Amino acid sequence: MLELAYHKSPYYQRIFKEAGVRPFHLENFEDLKKFPTIDKKDLRTRQQMVPDFGDLICAPEEDFVFLSASSGSTGVPTASPFTGPDFEDFQDCQARLFWSSGMRPTDRYCHALNFTLFVGGPNVIGAMKLGALTVWAGTIPSERLLAIFQTWRPTVTWTTPSYAWFLGETAKESGINPAELSIRKIFVAGEPGGSIPETQTSIEALWDADVYDYYGLSDIFGACAGMCEAKDGLHMAEDHILVEVVDPQTGQEVAEGQRGEMILTSLKKVARPLIRFRTGDIVSYTTETCSCGRTHMRMHGIHGRLDDMMIIKGVNVFPSDIETIVRNNENLTGEYVCVITEEKHMAALTIEVEKVEGFQGDMDALATEIQIECQKIIGIKPRIRILDAKSLTRATHKAIRVRDERKKGQ
Ligand SMILES: [Zn+2]
Repeated sequence: MLELAYHKSPYYQRIFKEAGVRPFHLENFEDLKKFPTIDKKDLRTRQQMVPDFGDLICAPEEDFVFLSASSGSTGVPTASPFTGPDFEDFQDCQARLFWSSGMRPTDRYCHALNFTLFVGGPNVIGAMKLGALTVWAGTIPSERLLAIFQTWRPTVTWTTPSYAWFLGETAKESGINPAELSIRKIFVAGEPGGSIPETQTSIEALWDADVYDYYGLSDIFGACAGMCEAKDGLHMAEDHILVEVVDPQTGQEVAEGQRGEMILTSLKKVARPLIRFRTGDIVSYTTETCSCGRTHMRMHGIHGRLDDMMIIKGVNVFPSDIETIVRNNENLTGEYVCVITEEKHMAALTIEVEKVEGFQGDMDALATEIQIECQKIIGIKPRIRILDAKSLTRATHKAIRVRDERKKGQ
């Protein structure tokens, strides 16, 4: 891949030269660290400098058969092209991940992810490759999706954790018990929820189904990793992607079990290889063999995006930490928003939560209870604002968990 990148991409050639490295300098994994990293900003800039696909591409356009674009919350979406073989590899990998989660040709799979530009869309083809009967639903209104569930009784579906929860609640409101529907496996991705035990078990209880967390990256595959039936971390597709986990500040590798930013190198994709791509995703990992027997490393939770990390009184706080606490408290609905404000030139955190309907207890005692949990788990005591049930906006796709109320430029 280094040879390909160096000889075909003017950008890679330039940054390798600037770093004083050549592909032949790579003799072992340790040597990879000599090569420069790239990030999302580089992809965006290069695409703007060299339309239409940037100068990291390493195959001629006539070889491209598919283009996904990042759902990027900021700025211009960046394109991720695939050649025919890249796309085949992608779907082969999806089929294998589906199989590892226990999906079989006898299953019916209802795909409830967005198809538009989103790299998760084509995963439906992976389900077909596996041999399951697939229903291409996409992101349709909840009532219609529930009607599909009732009519064709799919056993497997894929959506975001927020939407799995929302859809279950919507079903209940219209008199349908989601646990009595046919869904037995729910794949989730796009948010940390699927790896937060409290969120995972809440969705599982609501649907009487198993929840499997998946991880995808628009710049590589719709799913680069997924949970096997042991549901003990996400197996990374290490035959397609090389993984490094580093301290985001120092760039030094972190030990197993420690949190760090994931850096990925694609090992096969030729349309646009990614060499040491900083994902901005914070993970921890283990190389211990899984009880399922698979040897690919497992990520224990995508703790969140580096962009979502809040620094409160010098402590790194992720919304997923707050989620663990909120979902664990039976007096709360499980919905929450982290509000950051500026106090005495310091970032201050307030957590907005909802009490469950019919809660009669002492509000101050409840707030104190949450604060003590926060102190224990994240090491700070945020302010707690308890709202009535259903006060916070429900997400139909990705939930917004952080509201930054600090004035820009301060
Ligand atoms: Zn496993």
